[in-house]
Amino acid sequence: MAMADTNPAQSQMKVSDEVAITITGMNKWYGQFHVLRDIDLTVQRGERIVICGPSGSGKSTLIRCINALEEHQQGSIVVDGVPLSSDLKNIDKIRSEVGMCFQHFNLFPHLTILENCTLAPIWVRKTPKKEAEETAMYFLEKVKIPDQANKYPGQLSGGQQQRVAIARSLCMKPRIMLFDEPTSALDPEMIKEVLDTMIQLAEEGMTMLCVTHEMGFARQVANRVIFMDAGQIVEQNAPEPFFTNPQNDRTKLFLSQIL
Ligand code: ADP
Ligand code: MG
Repeated sequence: MAMADTNPAQSQMKVSDEVAITITGMNKWYGQFHVLRDIDLTVQRGERIVICGPSGSGKSTLIRCINALEEHQQGSIVVDGVPLSSDLKNIDKIRSEVGMCFQHFNLFPHLTILENCTLAPIWVRKTPKKEAEETAMYFLEKVKIPDQANKYPGQLSGGQQQRVAIARSLCMKPRIMLFDEPTSALDPEMIKEVLDTMIQLAEEGMTMLCVTHEMGFARQVANRVIFMDAGQIVEQNAPEPFFTNPQNDRTKLFLSQIL
């Protein structure tokens, strides 16, 4: 279900016919608490989806279910043709396809930037060290901080650390990137540099699901905006109609509070 691009800047960002993620009838509970309700979502390869909604609406839980950081109890999630089941082999396969970037960068403080980027490729993927380092430098250049490679996370600004976190994910060569409020812990002057990195990824064709309240980013990059409330997908649309003509009262209320 590719929607018409309304932003000319998006014209080179292609959405393919190939399906990247299919979520069908998915429900999740935390104990007695029904946190995700009847989630149906199909993501095509190359889509850039922004997920927004009030705090506590289930955005992080949804994102975390997609790479099995959280278990769901009902329905199915299929990522790149692999059904997410309790089979550990499938979970490993899905995690190797899906990169994730969190609000708090979760870099290893006692490792250098380069070591942060080579750790998983060397130990999980068994990539030879030299090759892992070359790949890491390639992606550190992409996020425009190759000169910081031998420093420790504590020596970098928040924006730089988040760009390292993105580079570190990219070193595992994911086909899908999940972002959970990647800029909300950053000082305002650092938000742009992280968003610019994400825009660049989008332009290179990465399939992206981004939980963010950066609505400028949503307008510029997203081909689809999803609004969640109380564990449900309440409304979704291309950015232009989503922002200018929201249909649901809860969406209207939310937008009136943040825009
Ligand atoms: P959002 O990211 O939209 O703010 P979350 O997915 O983090 O929402 O949380 C959705 C709801 O689930 C909230 O009410 C939250 O308190 C609750 N919740 C989140 N994580 C857990 C957990 N591990 N155990 C129990 N409840 C949780
Ligand atoms: Mg959250």
